[in-house]
Amino acid sequence: MQDPLQERLRRIPAVDQMLLQPCALRWMARTSRGFVVSEIQKLLQETREALRLDDARAVRAVDPEALDAALEERFTARLQPALRPVINATGVILHTNLGRAPLSPAARDRLSSVSGQYTNLEYDLESGDRSHRDRLLEPLIAAILGCESSVVVNNNAAAVFLVLNTLAAGREVIVSRGELIEIGGSFRLPDILARSGAILREVGTTNKTRIQDFENAITPQTALLFRAHPSNYRIRGFTQRPELSELVSLAHSRQLPLVEDIGSGCLMDLGRFGLREEPIAGESLQTGADLISFSCDKLLGGPQAGIIAGAARFVSAIRRNPLMRVCRVEKLVYGALEATLQSYRTGRAFEEIPVLRMISLTAQEIQTRSRRFARKLGAKAPEGTTVTSVKGESVIGGGSFPDCGLPTTVLAVACARSSPNEIEERLRAQDPPIVARLEENRTLIDLRTVLPEQEDDLLRGLLGALT
Ligand SMILES: *Cc1c(COP(=O)(O)O)cnc(C)c1O
Repeated sequence: MQDPLQERLRRIPAVDQMLLQPCALRWMARTSRGFVVSEIQKLLQETREALRLDDARAVRAVDPEALDAALEERFTARLQPALRPVINATGVILHTNLGRAPLSPAARDRLSSVSGQYTNLEYDLESGDRSHRDRLLEPLIAAILGCESSVVVNNNAAAVFLVLNTLAAGREVIVSRGELIEIGGSFRLPDILARSGAILREVGTTNKTRIQDFENAITPQTALLFRAHPSNYRIRGFTQRPELSELVSLAHSRQLPLVEDIGSGCLMDLGRFGLREEPIAGESLQTGADLISFSCDKLLGGPQAGIIAGAARFVSAIRRNPLMRVCRVEKLVYGALEATLQSYRTGRAFEEIPVLRMISLTAQEIQTRSRRFARKLGAKAPEGTTVTSVKGESVIGGGSFPDCGLPTTVLAVACARSSPNEIEERLRAQDPPIVARLEENRTLIDLRTVLPEQEDDLLRGLLGALT
């Protein structure tokens, strides 16, 4: 008697036969024979294993046409990039898990022009001599911040590390106990400080630190006074923290530098949007901080990078640190960062930089946009779907403004047939994936963080997830 398993295994086509199928031919033209052959071999092997396990789907799928269709799916999945654009419908403007700041059109154009061609990254076009990449943006940063000198590094963590390693290795750094920050789980100031070779000298208490605490801690071992912005938390109630100006006076009266980690790279006053308490880079320098450091992909709205800015003698010492090489950034970052900073220089930051545009959208503007979108969605959504506009709050995120929400209108989307969790999950499975907010058992869409050009994709994705 014929063994049915052996019979089915025999029906599986050979690789050569599969290579003549339309999908295989198409992908061979787009990729290479070797790639297509190896994927076919894997598919056939998986089919054999499935048959042995008596998987019902495999039983049907052994003819060349069915296998060719499976191959199409397989290639599409294989070539799906690991890093993909997503629609951020969470209302969290600087979502670290979603890559923080989306770049401005100008920054994107610059990226594309400097990426596929040679550039003058370290070449002086006037003299024809070698130059230094870390001089490229110095004039622009000086014009915006009013600083003597600056250097661009990989991120703010690298900036803090380099400053401490250069100016304080083997000596003491005085920091308030209220400012021993942890940002995003992996940036812990005491750990970075220890690795830099500096010695932490904590002063004051969690809630109260006075200028006298700093003063009493200064010894011949002191290298600098350090101030960190508590980006992602606030200490409320019975609190005290020295003013930056007091720290500057104290440091300078003892011939010590005052270094401030300002965090988010806030270059402009955002007070009119209800966002206060974030140190503004130029103001810190004007008040007398000798060096400041900040991220470029948070409020600044640029690519991942860190900037150290301030007094030339300290910046040149940092440039000479061999670890500078470890922290340097590449041409793509210089290109995108320069284009972003130019928006500040030309006074067009609020119009051109997506993060600042999102922050400056008024509650009224969001409401109008949400209602229009809700009507479009309502008109096409399947039976049993409800879309309601509700008042909510968007947040800055990325460790900025921990207790400031921006008033917004969110769309609560519900469907008689699916739970909010199911809808949220199906939204993530769309192409492009949509990341929504789940709150009080509702799926919420906040259009503040959806770029206007993504609205069609959002509508399509929502309809896909609801049907
Ligand atoms: C975000 C932040 C950091 C870390 O910056 P990265 O650019 O993410 O490395 C350090 N210090 C403060 C105060 C911050 O807000």
